[in-house]
Amino acid sequence: MTTARTLRSVAELVDAGLMPPEAQHAGAAKVGERYAIALTPAVAALIDPDDPHDPIARQFLPDPAELLVRAEERADPIGDLAHSPVAGIVHRYPDRVLLKAVHVCPVYCRFCFRREMVGPSGLGTLAPDELDAAIAYVAARPEIWEVILTGGDPLVLSARRLRDLMERLAAIDHVKVVRFHTRVPVVEPDRIDAELVEALKASGKTTYVALHANHPRELTAQARAACARLVDAGIAMISQTVLLKGVNDDAGVLAELMRAFVENRIRPYYLHHPDLAPGTGHFRLGLAEGRALVEQLRGRISGLCQPTYILDIPGGHGKVPVLSDAVRESDDGCFRIRDFRGGEHSYPPRHD
Ligand SMILES: *Cc1c(COP(=O)(O)O)cnc(C)c1O
Ligand code: SF4
Repeated sequence: MTTARTLRSVAELVDAGLMPPEAQHAGAAKVGERYAIALTPAVAALIDPDDPHDPIARQFLPDPAELLVRAEERADPIGDLAHSPVAGIVHRYPDRVLLKAVHVCPVYCRFCFRREMVGPSGLGTLAPDELDAAIAYVAARPEIWEVILTGGDPLVLSARRLRDLMERLAAIDHVKVVRFHTRVPVVEPDRIDAELVEALKASGKTTYVALHANHPRELTAQARAACARLVDAGIAMISQTVLLKGVNDDAGVLAELMRAFVENRIRPYYLHHPDLAPGTGHFRLGLAEGRALVEQLRGRISGLCQPTYILDIPGGHGKVPVLSDAVRESDDGCFRIRDFRGGEHSYPPRHD
């Protein structure tokens, strides 16, 4: 499907031939009232409307299954709000903070872990005085070694605003690394132009871009070229992938994706177990299934291609590698998880 602009509603998806006309009257339209929809032209072009199991469609087209909220799901699955000392900052680990300057994205993923915070009705963009306060928070804490720009997708900001933000981080000596989490090189590859690349480097710090991609088909020639522009400019790239039922819950697909990252000088970093965001149960495998899948990668592909399979412990207790002795299966089929501070948690969490 080729479209000239971003599709933002069920009606537009129907017009573009990506959803059947009945969708406008069915659950998908209700989903559209509740959660943001956006597919860029690059993403729409990847969808095969004749394939009912298209892994790109599944990530981006609204599905009535999103209206089904399970007991263990929560609006703030990884406890961002509890660890937010000032607007836009999430400070969970001593040496690094998330800086969420924007809560919009070029596309909206149906499984988004921050789906209650992002989108046109989400938390919005930080006001200038809030951004000042967020930067002052970082500047006042010498233990902060790394600033992680996420959101939302920070690369929706204009090159001018990114440059301004990076120049302000440049002035903070104790910040040594700046990391961006983004889907832009895949979903809007033309946005990665020389001006934007220079803006990303304007802090003078070591700069990493973590690319979020979930299926090998996302790494089109245009996406690969966009990543090459970043890496050629001296920006290191790592990957993040969400393990998703019906998208990439297959060792062959994961192997192909991880190899595609490495071939493009993107070091596989995290494979995330999906968080307990509302209405995303149809994407989640069990932890035991996920483990079995990831274990198959070890013999199959190079060590360079191995991501770390990660669970963000519900409630904001931090991340834990699933294939480690911090995650133990108990007799009842549930898991006991030890966080980085030594606290113990059940997964799935008990209802409270
Ligand atoms: C995920 C996350 C990070 C980054 O964790 P890494 O393991 O360093 O990639 C930092 N802060 C918060 C609040 C996070 O949720
Ligand atoms: S790009 Fe990230 S923040 Fe934006 S909708 Fe997708 S998962 Fe959520």
